[in-house]
Amino acid sequence: MGMVYRIYLEGERIYGCANCKTHLATIHSMMSRAFNGQHGRAYLFETVVNIIEGEPIDREMTTGKHTVRDISCCKCRTVLGWKYDRAFEPLQQYKEGKYILERNLLVDVQ
Ligand SMILES: [Zn+2]
Repeated sequence: MGMVYRIYLEGERIYGCANCKTHLATIHSMMSRAFNGQHGRAYLFETVVNIIEGEPIDREMTTGKHTVRDISCCKCRTVLGWKYDRAFEPLQQYKEGKYILERNLLVDVQ
C-alpha cells in the first residue's frame, strides 16, 4: 500500500471529518440540509472527496428502497454517511450519485 494522497479544498466554507479534519466537501456542493442520518441531521452533497466507498447494499428508507454504499474518511476510517447508487422510486432519483454526510461527524475547517 502506498500513501493516501488527500485533496485539499479551497473556498469560503469547508466541511471536514470531525475526528481528523480531513477535508470532505464545500458549501458550494451542498444540495440540501433537510436529511436525516443514523445520528440525526444530515446533509446531501453533490461531491465529496477523501472518502472510501463500501460495497453496495439495498436499504429500505422512509422514501423507499435505495442502493447505498457506506462512505468513510480515507484517513481515520470513520464512517461519515453514505452514497446513493440507485433510488428505486422515480421521484428520489435526483439523489443517485450524491452523498450524505452526518452533521454530527463534520467540523468546519475554514
Ligand atoms: Zn477522519
